[in-house]
Amino acid sequence: MSETLPAGTTGTPAPVETERGILFVISSPSGGGKGTLVRRILTHMPRLGYSVSWTTRAPRQGEVNGREYHFVTTEEFEAARERGEFLEWACVHGNFYATSIKVVERELAAGRDVVLEIDVQGAATVRRLEIEAVSVFILPPSFEIMRRRLTGRQSENSDALALRLQNSRGEVEHYREFDYVVLNDDVDRAATQLASIVYAERARRVRQERLAERVLATFP
Ligand code: ADP
Ligand code: 5GP
Repeated sequence: MSETLPAGTTGTPAPVETERGILFVISSPSGGGKGTLVRRILTHMPRLGYSVSWTTRAPRQGEVNGREYHFVTTEEFEAARERGEFLEWACVHGNFYATSIKVVERELAAGRDVVLEIDVQGAATVRRLEIEAVSVFILPPSFEIMRRRLTGRQSENSDALALRLQNSRGEVEHYREFDYVVLNDDVDRAATQLASIVYAERARRVRQERLAERVLATFP
């Protein structure tokens, strides 16, 4: 299946032939820009799926249940957790968040790559599970720039905003545990770099063996 390339890159898309999809774990502090960058690459990469998380956080203005999140009560969240439906879950800035196993597994099994946009605790859980995953940390250029961007988003009241800023240093310290770090300075440049990571991971020899063997078999 071919795909269009992100803005700023040229050439013919490479054929993709992967048995199982790749799991991409993308984290950053709140306001780091992961949502913005992930939305950018998803529009250019149809073979890349997005795992909609569960949360007990109240919806923000404009957020739609089932699109940004599955918005649930704490009771519903805990019941699903008890039933073992979550790949990982965490309490982040005072609310619960989780990734559904079922959807991720279905997409990966169908050969589609999946993005998890989760916090650093969730990324650590996925790492402990020892499932194959590629992790990317989105790094804001500085605390001050991140603070301005997050304030400008106008998504949180002042207490929630203060808590997110207070937690941010502890989150950024976890960059060391990730496979890749993308600096979110210019949004186009950062999105192109993030897309490049996806393309490069797909091209790894271990993931191209089926294709390469098929091509090899055509040689006399
Ligand atoms: P996160 O999902 O990590 O919490 P967002 O993607 O919502 O962060 O970004 C926080 C705010 O910063 C948003 O208002 C977004 O439009 C803005 N933003 C993100 N990346 C950039 C960038 N590279 N340059 C300027 N503003 C940005
Ligand atoms: P927000 O409330 O800004 O949407 O998200 C707050 C934090 O929760 C962000 O760091 C976001 O990545 C994280 N988050 C969103 N979904 C999940 C999830 O399913 N699991 C975990 N562990 N964190 C999540």
